[in-house]
Amino acid sequence: MDCKDVIKRIPDFLNHELNNRELKDFLNHTEGCKECREELSIQFLVLEGMARLEEGNTFDLQNEFDRMMEDAKRRMKLRRMLNVFVYGMEILAIITIITIIVLIIVL
Ligand SMILES: [Zn+2]
Repeated sequence: MDCKDVIKRIPDFLNHELNNRELKDFLNHTEGCKECREELSIQFLVLEGMARLEEGNTFDLQNEFDRMMEDAKRRMKLRRMLNVFVYGMEILAIITIITIIVLIIVL
């Protein structure tokens, strides 16, 4: 993902609409790219700030931005762990099936 892709996906990211791979690329890029991180934080502040204005709430949005990024990272790790788990279960199922087939042949 280059800067253009990342900028294009910021709204999707903020709406939690990126899939796992996109989310990973997105976070990897924004971690290392100051420009994109800045653009992301601006869009976040605008989006959240408008919502807050309507509610009459004034929060520490910069803090909230940091927390939102942490959440996104945690979510990505959780999804990856889930993927590894599902993968492991599939391998287990295949081994079980092979074992059963071998047993049927041998017995
Ligand atoms: Zn960038």
